[in-house]
Amino acid sequence: MNVTHLECALCNLRHEANTLQNLCRDCGKPLLVRYDLEKAAASLTLDSLQTRESSLWRYREVLPVVDGENIVSLGVGWTSFFKTDRLAATLPIKLDLYIKDEGQNPTQSFKARGMTAAISMAKELGVTKLAVPSAGNAAGAMAAYAALAGMEANIFMPADTPRANTIECQQTGANVTLVDGLITDCGKIVAERKDAEGWFDVSTLKEPYRVEGKKTMGYELFEHFSQFQNQKSKIQNLPDVIIYPTGGGTGLIGMWKAFDEMEQMGWIGSTRPRMVTVQSETCAPIVRAFERGERFADEFENASTVASGLRVPKAIGDFLILDAIRASGGTAISVTDEELVAAVAEIGALTGIFTAPEGAACLPALRKMIERNDVREGESVVMFNTGSGVKYLEAFA
Ligand SMILES: *Cc1c(COP(=O)(O)O)cnc(C)c1O
Repeated sequence: MNVTHLECALCNLRHEANTLQNLCRDCGKPLLVRYDLEKAAASLTLDSLQTRESSLWRYREVLPVVDGENIVSLGVGWTSFFKTDRLAATLPIKLDLYIKDEGQNPTQSFKARGMTAAISMAKELGVTKLAVPSAGNAAGAMAAYAALAGMEANIFMPADTPRANTIECQQTGANVTLVDGLITDCGKIVAERKDAEGWFDVSTLKEPYRVEGKKTMGYELFEHFSQFQNQKSKIQNLPDVIIYPTGGGTGLIGMWKAFDEMEQMGWIGSTRPRMVTVQSETCAPIVRAFERGERFADEFENASTVASGLRVPKAIGDFLILDAIRASGGTAISVTDEELVAAVAEIGALTGIFTAPEGAACLPALRKMIERNDVREGESVVMFNTGSGVKYLEAFA
């Protein structure tokens, strides 16, 4: 067990690790888990990884659970990583293009990564009732892990969330409330009721552990990319560019944290992949803040998009996303809903992967980057397909 403490991501205030916490008690910003990385590095070696389990729990030394009995897993993470030459051939410049297919996770999205960590920790810290506001996939993942752990799951989703999301939650035993509003409105309901009801709020970045689960995408990327035949990159063992469909930004923030940890453990140097956020034009708070040079993003009015995972008008980790994009020399790009839905069929026909609309958004974003000279001939680019298209049948009607 290598956790030393929790630390506020904004004001750095130190918090105790082994009690239930939501946000920083001083400034109300997200708490991040800190580890004794020297100790972690002693046993988490690249050699030792060769024989470990094919799940994200292979990175136990840099994950927060103390007692392995508390891990609630369903076999999560360690998803496939493909090189996509037929898709790359449709681009105007020659690139090494890869997809990390997160639709292979339990409940068909990478939300399972965050929830396996959060629910395992909730179990370890004695929680029996959970609540979450969700744009869709977080709810399905929470319902599944709550069911496996034997906890009560209370879920608040916008009424127009894709049907697959509401049905899977009901079928896995959750209490589902549909709300006439956005995820931010759902979040307010959870915040108002949680104390009286005794719920632990597992909203993303309002508890410290979902980001820990999601950061494993950074570790896996390193392992997969470094083993890939003929990989080319200016950065040793990581791609030049990572394109990430960003809602709350948990995965991007998590990977950025993972790269820091990996550097401190001596796995990589100080050069980082350029982190690229993609959002829908009709809900693009991070893109707007990036373009205006701001560190915090204003709430995006009248947010709407069929890519429901991107329908997050206000992200509590906005400054962490924007800091990472800027520090990496990356960028933020918006695409239209028409472009991202059309990209599902295009990617599907050239790779065999039925992507979520969120994941498909990476392709029109990459085309815009090429137009703007944000990516150059010969570079390596990874697109994150964050979920499976099977959960969005309405979007293809
Ligand atoms: C939640 C979600 C996103 C956004 O993820 P964040 O890490 O919160 O930015 C993207 N795609 C899908 C399919 C999602 O469910």
